[in-house]
Amino acid sequence: KEKTSPYKRILLKLSGEALMGEQNFGIDPAVLNRMALEIGQLVGIGVQVGLVIGGGNLFRGAALSQAGLDRVTGDHMGMLATVMNGLAMRDALERANIRTRVMSAIPMSGVVEHYDRRTAIRYLTSGDVVIFSAGTGNPFFTTDSAACLRGIEVDADVVIKATKVDGVYDKDPVKYADAVKYSCLSYDSALDQKLEVMDLTAICLVRDHNMPVRVFDMNKPGALLNLVVGGDEGTLIYR
Ligand code: UDP
Repeated sequence: KEKTSPYKRILLKLSGEALMGEQNFGIDPAVLNRMALEIGQLVGIGVQVGLVIGGGNLFRGAALSQAGLDRVTGDHMGMLATVMNGLAMRDALERANIRTRVMSAIPMSGVVEHYDRRTAIRYLTSGDVVIFSAGTGNPFFTTDSAACLRGIEVDADVVIKATKVDGVYDKDPVKYADAVKYSCLSYDSALDQKLEVMDLTAICLVRDHNMPVRVFDMNKPGALLNLVVGGDEGTLIYR
């Protein structure tokens, strides 16, 4: 039977760290290619895909600032890192014959298109993957917030956050063997219990706009496709 999805349009957030693979800095082309194939499967069943990629594999403003750099300058570097990741991901997607656009919150004429909501929606509707780069364009924000913001703006059905663990636990599953996974969770309990799912800005944004968020393990083969066709992967955060 042909696979169908309950979602027409999704916003997928990948952390920059996910692109490193086994390295501790930079981009592993093998990982990029694998992700491109997984994203291609979604496009193949007719799901519109918006992508936000982090920059933590290259630079993070907070870490640079701890090392003595000016915080805002560090955040600018972090946002530029997300553009580099976006370019690399576009390259991998297009090599897999998936039409892809990179838009940037910071204008960068000649390199990528400037983000424009209406144009982005047009591209998504026509089946192109749209990578939203440079985060929100502002320092002191994260790409999790950017993913939630863009997801709400382009009217995605769900924000999907790819992580290294297969959902949200009541405590760190790496440290505690008896940690329990939530299959669903309300915005308020995520906030109250200070579960480190996303930063507070991002959670408040999705809560205020009733945008469902699903957290899942990107390293589990087939998990992305399974959750997009309605499978019960990871944790759903909703009202
Ligand atoms: N960043 C920013 N504003 C944004 C998004 C990101 O200043 O709207 C900067 C910030 O310095 C952040 C870096 O870009 O540390 C990389 O993003 P993030 O840490 O969210 O990447 P991830 O952890 O997902 O790899």
